[in-house]
Amino acid sequence: MCPHAAIRPYLATSVTLQGAPESVIGKPANSKEMAGHQYFMQVSPLDCTGCGNCVDVCPTKVKSLTLTPLETVGTAELRKFEYLAALPEPEVEVNPTTVITSQFKKPLFEYSGACAGCGETPYIKLVTQLFGDRMMIANATGCSSIYGGSAPSCPYTTNGKGQGPAWANSLFEDTAEFGYGMALAG
Ligand code: SF4
Ligand code: SF4
Repeated sequence: MCPHAAIRPYLATSVTLQGAPESVIGKPANSKEMAGHQYFMQVSPLDCTGCGNCVDVCPTKVKSLTLTPLETVGTAELRKFEYLAALPEPEVEVNPTTVITSQFKKPLFEYSGACAGCGETPYIKLVTQLFGDRMMIANATGCSSIYGGSAPSCPYTTNGKGQGPAWANSLFEDTAEFGYGMALAG
């Protein structure tokens, strides 16, 4: 649910963890789809906007997530994030009837310029985790077109195979026709 895909769960095997920094400490994943993996929850400290959504929804009685000033943890957390983010994507079968396994797929929409705590971007992120390698987006003008194409940066990205969403924006109220043209051209 992170609007910026700044906090993510990661999975790693003992093989992929060889040479990991000592501070990279996981826990055994406890579902059958993830057997043999270590589980991590890691934030990208330089991409977190501090919106607090993840802390608010954390369901444990004593919060497992807390917000901490960047200057006190930034360097250590950045090192952990860079290590985990560079790991190969785990081969986990995604069950389309639950949201959990989808979260181990790389989001193909990340670090957008939407407002901190935006309620719209988590849905876009989830759709790219399910279908992003073959998505074509005809984006009507609105918030999603602004944070979706804030030149010179772009929050849409690719998976390890170089596949990701194709995106274009249409101004005014012609999006359906615009998307139809994209579909015909594709
Ligand atoms: S505080 Fe907000 S931006 Fe930062 S990781 Fe949590 S949900 Fe994401
Ligand atoms: S104004 Fe737009 S970008 Fe900001 S929170 Fe609302 S939907 Fe998200």
